[in-house]
Formats: sequence, structure tokens, C-alpha cells
Amino acid sequence: MLYFFQGSVVFMKLSAFGEKLTQKTGILELMDDLGRAMSTEQHLLMLGGGNPAHILEVEKIWRKRWQEILDNGDELERMLGNYTTPQGDADFINTIAGFFRRNYHWQVTEKNITVLNGSQTTFYFLFNMFAGVYPDGTKKRTLLPLVPEYIGYADQGISKDMFVSVKPTIQFIDKHTFKYHIDFDNLYKVDAIGAICVSRPTNPTGNVITDAEIAQLHKFAKEREVPLIIDNAYGSPFPNILFTDITPIWDENIIYVLTLSKLGLPSVRTSVVIANEEVTKKLTSINAIASLSTGTVGQHLVLPYLINDELMTISQDIIRPFYHKKAEDAIAFFHQQMQNSTIPYFLHKSEGALFLWLWCKDLPISDYELYQRLKERGVIVVPGHYFYPGLQEEWQQKSECLRITYSQDESMVHKGLAIIAEEVKKVYV
Ligand code: PLP
Repeated sequence: MLYFFQGSVVFMKLSAFGEKLTQKTGILELMDDLGRAMSTEQHLLMLGGGNPAHILEVEKIWRKRWQEILDNGDELERMLGNYTTPQGDADFINTIAGFFRRNYHWQVTEKNITVLNGSQTTFYFLFNMFAGVYPDGTKKRTLLPLVPEYIGYADQGISKDMFVSVKPTIQFIDKHTFKYHIDFDNLYKVDAIGAICVSRPTNPTGNVITDAEIAQLHKFAKEREVPLIIDNAYGSPFPNILFTDITPIWDENIIYVLTLSKLGLPSVRTSVVIANEEVTKKLTSINAIASLSTGTVGQHLVLPYLINDELMTISQDIIRPFYHKKAEDAIAFFHQQMQNSTIPYFLHKSEGALFLWLWCKDLPISDYELYQRLKERGVIVVPGHYFYPGLQEEWQQKSECLRITYSQDESMVHKGLAIIAEEVKKVYV
């Protein structure tokens, strides 16, 4: 690596930490593609990142709230001009605790809540807190019970090999639809675990782990004396991009992570963690070291909507139906494009989140080559092989899938899906 200093070139050596976090990663490629498509290269058909849609009705709510902040005495100055404690803003924390006591009867107080700068940062803290090298020299890993799983976890471990995962079982639902399930028999055989983590709905597949599967994971986590981390980036109760009914649960052994991002607020970088007192204290300590304090803009923006529970109705009545319709439309459109072809392609059953997970069985080229071909035609998707953190086992399917985001406007999604269908047909010929 080169370092430029007053005209001269100095070679910099990096620590193991520096080396690990600066290598080429899937998440860097994805966010780079996303950033360019959203700003400088707007001609690209962005079916890649996890940017939430611009839902006019929701945007109006945040605009109105922004105006209220401007009009409300010195709220703007307090919001922008004061650090919070590293646990978050006291009003917001108390309000979140009240929200979950009132709506879900969870026994939580302000001692169970931490507000951090986005859930990506939150997972970085959590994974490195529970997995890696322990003081006695032993090593533990974070178990991801269902892969494909979120690309953003893959490179978060400070030490090597911090994830372990297990191949799922596959249920075929119809000629072109399938669903993954957790393979509990193999899961029980995994040792040296420091935590278990699932995204619910799962990014990239749109799978939603059932209440029964969560109960089984919870029991397993308790037996192993490790926390069960549930990543609700798209989940319940907000933003509630769920097309199937679930009951959210929490107890002292669950670390429940939420974010404001998919409420249409990804740039406020605000996440909420509900955990036992000890974990809350530890996350607060890490946040003080890594970030000093938590950004206040997101907390101020949503506070009144938590007080009056409107965040539930915004999620349930606006955000959820918006994405559900988009998912159904994208699926129908893609099948239409593939009509009359004999290609063995499958879409994962869409139960939530913003994505279609396309599996092209026996794909004649790799998923990465397909991604590059699509990029050359101006369509950005994410190649599937990035979504298997911790899976050592060889599995052909790892190089046969693409993640396709359907959150952008309909004409962009349709154009992109039509090109994907065309390219897929070409490679099988
Ligand atoms: N978890 C999942 C499953 C995600 O898809 C994302 C982002 O897309 C994140 C966590 C991180 O979200 P943020 O850092 O914006 O809260």
C-alpha cells in the first residue's frame, strides 16, 4: 500500500487487523456499486444493494417531523449540538423500553437498551465480543444457523474464521419455488460457539425463520450458554417487511437488534439493541471507545412515533404492503420473462425483506461471471457466493445464485429483470 506525504512516497506496513479489514470484500464491492449507482452513475439499473425504497407517504412523515424539529424552540440546536451518553439519548431509551413493555409485555427497562450508530456497527461489536480468542486462549465462533446469510457479517471478525455455518435443507414448493430450512441435526454437532445469529427475514433470501425454529434455536442457545442474536433489519415490529405472521420474542438470553434504516432512514445510522443488563453495559463501553457517542438525528426524528405507537401503523399499513406488492410484481414479471424456457431456475419463497434469491441450477458459468456480464449490460446485482460466511463444505449451489433487489422503482426493476432473464437464457444455450 502506498502513502503519499509531502510529495514523497512511503511504504506503510499494516497490522493483522489492518490487513484483514482492508482486503477486497463483498460488502465493499456491494456498497461501492450501490454508492455509484445512486449518485454518479444513475443510468445503472440498481438491483444490487439494500437501499430502501423512497416511499412518498413515509418520506412525507419524516419531512413533516423535520419541520416540527425546526419549529420546536431549541430542539434543532439540542439535537445537533449535544453529545449523548454512549448508551444513547435517555428520552429515546426510556421511550423504546416503554414501547416494548406496552406492546409486547417484554420486561425491559432503560437498563436493557443501547442505541448505536447503525446495526452494521452493532454486529461488529457483538461478533467480536462473543467470538474470537478468549482470555484462556480458546477460540469460539458465531454460529449462523441458516446460510445463505447476510453478506455484511462475513468480514466482521477481527480474528480469523470467526463464523461457522451449516448447509440448510431444501424444500421444493413448486416447479420454480423453493425454501431453505435449518438443518438442526447438523447444527447440534457444531462446537466452540460463542453466539448464534440469524437475520429475520433473512437477507439475501427473503426467508423468515418460523416461530418454531426460533424457539428451537433459543433452547439450543440456552443449552450452550450463548446468546441468540436476532437481526431484525427488515423485521418486527419495525420496519415489518414481513409477508408472513410471526411473534417477536425476547428474554435475557436474546439480543434483539433493530435499525431505523429500512424505515427510509439509512443515513441517520441508528440502531437499537435490546439485551440483558450486562450485555447493555458492555456494548455501551465498546461504543464509548469506538464511537464516543451515538448520533441523535434518528432518535429525535422517530421519538414521537414511538410514544404514540404510530411507528407500528406506519410499518404495518404503509411499508409492509408497499414491499409485498413489489415482491409479488417482481416475481410474476420474472417468471413471465422466463416463460417457455426449460432452464432449471428457482426463486426462494418470498416471505419478507427486499430481495429475490435466484438459483440457477447447474449454471454453466459462475455466479461472479454472470454478475459481471450483467454489470456490462448496466444491471447491478450481487453474486451469491458472498452469502455463505462460515460454510467450509463444498456446495455447488454457492456459485449458482444471485441476489436481486426489487426496492427501486418498477420500470427500473422490470428493465433489470428482463436483462437478467435474457442473460440467464444465453448462458444455458
Ligand atoms: N443486517 C441486515 C440483514 C442488513 O440487510 C443490513 C443492511 O442492509 C444491516 C444489518 C445493516 O444495516 P444498518 O447498518 O443500516 O442498520
